[in-house]
Amino acid sequence: MNLRTTVPQSRVLAGFERNLHQVRESSIIAVVVLAIAMVKAAHSNPMLDTLISSYPDQLAGYENGYLLWKDGTRMPVSDERREKTFEELLKAPDILDQFAIRYPLGTPTTIPRVNEDPGRIRNEAFFRKMYGDCEKGEVARQLSPVPWLPNRGGGTVLVTAVNGVAEKLAAISRELSQLPSKFSRYLVPSEGAYNCRVIADTNRPSMHAFGAAIDLNSRFGDYWLWTKSREGKFDWKNRIPLEIVDVFERHQFIWGGKWFHYDTMHFEYRPEIIAHAKKGWPERP
Ligand SMILES: [Zn+2]
Repeated sequence: MNLRTTVPQSRVLAGFERNLHQVRESSIIAVVVLAIAMVKAAHSNPMLDTLISSYPDQLAGYENGYLLWKDGTRMPVSDERREKTFEELLKAPDILDQFAIRYPLGTPTTIPRVNEDPGRIRNEAFFRKMYGDCEKGEVARQLSPVPWLPNRGGGTVLVTAVNGVAEKLAAISRELSQLPSKFSRYLVPSEGAYNCRVIADTNRPSMHAFGAAIDLNSRFGDYWLWTKSREGKFDWKNRIPLEIVDVFERHQFIWGGKWFHYDTMHFEYRPEIIAHAKKGWPERP
């Protein structure tokens, strides 16, 4: 039996109209969804997207210029000052300023240009909220001992357990233990990790004060302040092998050797910097 002949014309037409109605409805929905996506895109910010996805334990999202923490805290992402000098960026950056300088992943092809210090711009309130205030004992409470290259006599270092930093450093230690023994002298003894102190010559807390940084053997470290002449001049130099840098970067630690104001024994946990570098450093649309 031919189906077409058994269905009255009116029902076919009604069905057609119903379908047409559904098509219209679904296209209205599509337009609305598209409009919402466009509004969201207009307010979306690739740097904040990276930040949120880099700290999933702590950050919930962002809206109307505020960063939303999972405990309900709201922080302004911008102070609306976009023409800051380098000194101002260092001393009083807002949350977005942390992305002001692109971090070069992997083996550097050039030495850093003047004031090219990717990741050295840190919003103090953001990191204090994240890891606590060491002066109040808030960081110490969350520290976890990590065996540091135990097969090479590296002892133990203390870092924060927040954001899984301790586990990540333990994984770094295991990977570094696989490198040939000629690398040991750079790694052991470590100059230490947690240290409730400010950055030399500043009143800003170091990432060591948050328990989220480690220094390798200072005998092979180079630091811009140690070599600065009376006239304020210093030349970039480094003795840390890049095989070591690679291991740290694979676990979301950035290297102080990629800064014009270099600190080559220093590594700190900055997943947002590594993640944004992997995306090609997208800026605001
Ligand atoms: Zn350091």
